[in-house]
Amino acid sequence: DFPTLASDFLGFEADLADHEREALVALRQHAERSIRPLVNDAWDKAEFPHEILPGLHEHPLFGQLWDETRTGEYSAVYGGWTALELARIDASIATYVGVQNGLAMGSIGVNGSAEQKAEWLPKLASGEIIGAFGLTEPLSGSDAAQGLRTTATPDGDGWVLNGSKRWIGNATFSDITIIWAKSTEDGQVKGFIVPNATPGFTATKIERKQSLRIVQNADITLENVRVDAALTLEKANSFRDAAAVLRLTRADVAWAAIGTAIGAYEAAVAYTKERVQFGKTIAHHQLVQDLLSRSLMNITASIAMCTRVSRMQDAGTQRDEHASMAKAFCTTAMRETVALCREALGGNGIVLDYNVARFHADAEALYSYEGTREMNSLIVGRAITGVGAFV
Ligand code: FAD
Repeated sequence: DFPTLASDFLGFEADLADHEREALVALRQHAERSIRPLVNDAWDKAEFPHEILPGLHEHPLFGQLWDETRTGEYSAVYGGWTALELARIDASIATYVGVQNGLAMGSIGVNGSAEQKAEWLPKLASGEIIGAFGLTEPLSGSDAAQGLRTTATPDGDGWVLNGSKRWIGNATFSDITIIWAKSTEDGQVKGFIVPNATPGFTATKIERKQSLRIVQNADITLENVRVDAALTLEKANSFRDAAAVLRLTRADVAWAAIGTAIGAYEAAVAYTKERVQFGKTIAHHQLVQDLLSRSLMNITASIAMCTRVSRMQDAGTQRDEHASMAKAFCTTAMRETVALCREALGGNGIVLDYNVARFHADAEALYSYEGTREMNSLIVGRAITGVGAFV
C-alpha cells in the first residue's frame, strides 16, 4: 500500500524490496514536507539550507555500500531511487548526497584502509562531518587523468600538497576534502583525506552560478598542505583508483537526472490542467499533450535503463561503459524534457515560483558534471570499437 509516483508510468518502483519502498516513501514524505518549501528561496539566494541536514541524515541514504555504516540491506537500485526522489524536489540536494555519500565516502570506502574506513565512514554517514571530493582543476576537467597538476611530494612519513582545484562541491563548508594529486616520486595519482582546517588549505565559493545555485562549489588552493601518512588513502595508487569511485557514482547522476526531469514534468502537468486558453485548459490542446507525452516517454525509458544498470551494479557486472551510457543518455533525455516542460508553461516557465525554471537551469550542470555527455559517449564508443578516442 505504498503511494507511488504517477510519473513512474510503468511501475518500476514496485520492484524494490518492501523495506526499500518503505524507506523511499518515508524519504519522499520527508522531502515534500521539510525540503520542498525551502528550495526556491535558497536557489534564489544561492545559499545551502543547512537546517535540512540533521533530518536528511536520519534516512538510509548514506553508506549503504560499506560494511562500516550498513544500516540494512539496500540495493544500488534503491540508491538510485533515492537520488531520483531527492532530485525530484531539488537537484542540488541530490548533489549534496551524491558528493557526501558517493564521492567522499566512496573514495574512502573503495580506497581506504580498514582503519580509515572505521574512523571516517560512520561520521560521514551520520552527518557529524561533511566531505568533499577534489579532482577537477582550473586547467583540467575532462582530461583529469593526464592533466592533473596538483603535486604530492614525500615529506618524512607524510606528504606535502601544492596546487589548485575547481568546482569542488560542499567544500565551502566541508570538514574534509578528498584531494587527488600526482606524486612527484612516481608520477602516479594518489588520494588524500585533507581536513579543511589544515594550514595552507583555502576554499573560496564560486559566485554567480546560474545552475545548481544551492550547491556550494569552491575553488581550492593548496599551499604546502602537509598530510600525515594516516590520511593517505591506502589503496589509491593510480588514476584508476579515482576512476573506480566515479564508476560507482555515475549511475546515480543518471538517476538524479531522471528526478530533475520528473520535477519539471510534475509541475508542467499540474499547470496544464489549470491554465485556460481558447476557452479550455491547455491540457485539452493536442500539441500540449504531445509535450507531456514526450516528457513521460523520456522519463520512462530512462528509468528502465537505470534500473538495469543499477541491477548490474548489485550483481557486480556493471562496467564503465554501462554507467557512462546511462549518464549520457539520461542527462540528454532530461535536458530535452525540462525544455519541453518549460515550453508547456509559456512565459511562466521562466519564473522560479512556477517550479520549472529551477529544474531547467539545474539540468545544465548535471549534463556536464561527473563526465560531460561527450566524454561518457566516448567511453561507450571505446567499448563499441575497442579504440579509445579521447586524445
Ligand atoms: P572541459 O573538460 O574543458 O570540456 C569543455 C567541452 O569540451 C565539453 O563539452 C567537453 O565534452 C569537450 N571535450 C573535452 N575534451 C574532449 C574530447 N577529447 N573529445 C570531445 N569533447 C571533448 N569536480 C570535482 O572534482 N568535484 C566536484 O565536487 C565537482 N562538482 C561539480 C559541480 C558542478 C556544478 C560543476 C559544473 C562541475 C563540478 N565538477 C566537480 C567538475 C566537473 O566534473 C567538470 O566540470 C567536468 O568534468 C567537465 O570539465 P570542464 O568543465 O573542465 O570542461
